[in-house]
Amino acid sequence: MKLSLVVPCYNEADNVVPFQEAVIQAFDGCGYDYEIIYVDDGSKDATLHNLKKVFRAQKCPVKVVSFSRNFGKEAGLYAGIAHASGDYISFIDADLQQRPEIVREMVDYLETEPETDVVAAYQDRRGEGKILRFFKKCFYSLINRLSDVALRPDASDFRTFRKSVAESILALGEYHRFSKGIFSWVGYRTHYIPYTACDRVAGTTKWNFRKLFNYAIEGIIGFSTRPLRFSAYLGFLTAIAAIIYLVVVVLQKLFIGIDVPGYASIIVLILLLGAMQLLCIGIIGEYVGKIFEQSKNRPIYLAKEVLSYENED
Ligand code: UDP
Ligand code: MG
Repeated sequence: MKLSLVVPCYNEADNVVPFQEAVIQAFDGCGYDYEIIYVDDGSKDATLHNLKKVFRAQKCPVKVVSFSRNFGKEAGLYAGIAHASGDYISFIDADLQQRPEIVREMVDYLETEPETDVVAAYQDRRGEGKILRFFKKCFYSLINRLSDVALRPDASDFRTFRKSVAESILALGEYHRFSKGIFSWVGYRTHYIPYTACDRVAGTTKWNFRKLFNYAIEGIIGFSTRPLRFSAYLGFLTAIAAIIYLVVVVLQKLFIGIDVPGYASIIVLILLLGAMQLLCIGIIGEYVGKIFEQSKNRPIYLAKEVLSYENED
């Protein structure tokens, strides 16, 4: 039995060595093999340098996949699975916010419960602000209503799964990857366990509000076509309103006779209709953009270097 730990790293220079130590400590005497697959996501600091040091130290089996530039965490996870050879695969962050001890618990659970394919951790306590929590809540209720996949609000991508699940995830070769949706889409029986995120050992989070917002849009566009239907409905409703108003105007003209029609109402109508059209074009544009990018069939990531303990003698 073998476990593969997939660790995406972007500017985590001061975290990789402590992370490595923590993993070795956590899996000391676990009774099975494990490998760590670090994916350097085009870091601009000494992350790759430190990863190579870790690799050369050979304290445990290590692979290092280094990207030619920053492709994003989702691409990192994909590359990690592609290079994993374990029977179980875990996603874990390099900043030690997610403790390796929990991975060991996840593996133990999968070992004892053959019916379960995935053990995912969700955060029981979150140290984030009220505004962010509010937006996250809105996002999850929106995407759960819009799309066919069900997303658990507090679940992270901190999880361990069987090889079969990994193969299914790899089979989804979409360029715009939204992990939470992909996990839900592939299915499999998932068991959730709570965990409390620790503080980062070093460095800062790569997320800010703008990135989270864009990520949320990616998720909705990637897993639902309902916004398109929404724009069709909007057009339909506008057409009905226009017909009713047309009848009213004609009747007014015939029976009452219109003095000069209101300037304000015309301006309001022009602006309103213009806004609706732009909104609908925007929605369609989002999808067209995704089709365009997918149709180019570009690789999800480019690796400039892959170091593997398997190639060392
Ligand atoms: N990460 C990455 N590529 C990116 C951004 C982040 O590989 O473009 C990695 C990062 O190094 C870390 C993990 O993804 O190991 C989670 O990132 P972060 O800690 O910034 O997110 P948070 O824990 O704040 O949600
Ligand atoms: Mg983190």
